[in-house]
Amino acid sequence: MLKKLFIIIKNLFIRPTPKVVTNINKPNPKKETIAFVIGHNVDAQGAEFKHGNYTYSEYEFYKRFLNRYLLPLLDFKAHIIERPTGSYSHQCNSVAKKCFDLGVTKSFNFHFNSANHRANGFEALVLEKTTSEMLQVVQELSSEFKSFGLNVRHDNGINRIDSNHNGYGMLSALSSSYVDAIILEPFFGSNQNDIDLVLSNMSGFAQCFANVFNNHFAEKNDG
Ligand SMILES: [Zn+2]
Repeated sequence: MLKKLFIIIKNLFIRPTPKVVTNINKPNPKKETIAFVIGHNVDAQGAEFKHGNYTYSEYEFYKRFLNRYLLPLLDFKAHIIERPTGSYSHQCNSVAKKCFDLGVTKSFNFHFNSANHRANGFEALVLEKTTSEMLQVVQELSSEFKSFGLNVRHDNGINRIDSNHNGYGMLSALSSSYVDAIILEPFFGSNQNDIDLVLSNMSGFAQCFANVFNNHFAEKNDG
């Protein structure tokens, strides 16, 4: 009886072993390094549209948009990658190697669509093996673009492509280098309403991306 009492009293004065604190509230401690790849290259600049006195190509539009509008809004460092000139497979392999060397984990390839004047809105080209986190990013982008006033194509903007589709080579090359990669086509350069909407509010357009990217990558970026 005395012994039992002694143990109880002793336990009152001995500090309990501290519990191991785990970061269970942090969604994913994995570091991310993000790259934005400008569509096409300086020699073959991709599709074009006219707005006022200016003609914009995919290459020129995104080079300006990413550097001037999107990067300043981000709470993390991101790489901007330009494609070299040369054959398509050379471009794909060079970009994939650059991303691999930089330790890039996620890559967003920026293009705009072009078709008849009626087609409009946002879509993202993804592969069968694109991760669920990337699909979540696409879904969040699609709701941002909807609020901005753009149409959203397919199911939340997600268009799964196969080897017959433009862009498959780039996504495959990146994916072979362990980069989770998608192609973003937020609007149609062939649709006047899309162009007017985006060009009249470039800051708002950039904010759509920034809201989603900051939400996903600001805390765990290793860029
Ligand atoms: Zn393109």
